Amino acid sequence: MSSAGYDPNNIFAKILRGEIPSHRVYEDDAVVAFMDVMPQSTGHTLVVPKTPSRNLLDAEPETFGRLFAAVQKVARAAQQAFDADGIVISQFNEAPAGQTVFHLHVHIVPRFEGVAPKGHAAVMEKPEVLAANAEKIRAALAGA
Ligand code: AMP
Repeated sequence: MSSAGYDPNNIFAKILRGEIPSHRVYEDDAVVAFMDVMPQSTGHTLVVPKTPSRNLLDAEPETFGRLFAAVQKVARAAQQAFDADGIVISQFNEAPAGQTVFHLHVHIVPRFEGVAPKGHAAVMEKPEVLAANAEKIRAALAGA
């Protein structure tokens, strides 16, 4: 675990508390899932446990069952919503490994044959595109 500890004012904690907006696609008592604002591909979604931890290294092991059940649910919905050819699941621990927001989260990145992903946290997507993509995932979840 990093000596920096958990900052309750990180941006995902604010999203969980509803203090800043997000394009939510799924919520239960353990997790919230919402669109990544700088998507690496169409439908890039983040799943965030409500229990606070910086990342996988300091999380309680009990977190992962509910977290990855939700990751699978949302990944299946994203695969269906965008007719993805594959899905990358990724998760970064501490800044040298690529982590930029220090509340545990899992990336769901749909991939398409012959289409290279964009850079990590590189290009901001238009809100209307994020809203439309969120609606497609919610619709797929509703039909699941
Ligand atoms: P990581 O580098 O694994 O910590 O990933 C953080 C991710 O959060 C990046 O892919 C960012 O594009 C994304 N991100 C940053 N701020 C927001 C936000 N306010 N809402 C949604 N996604 C965000």
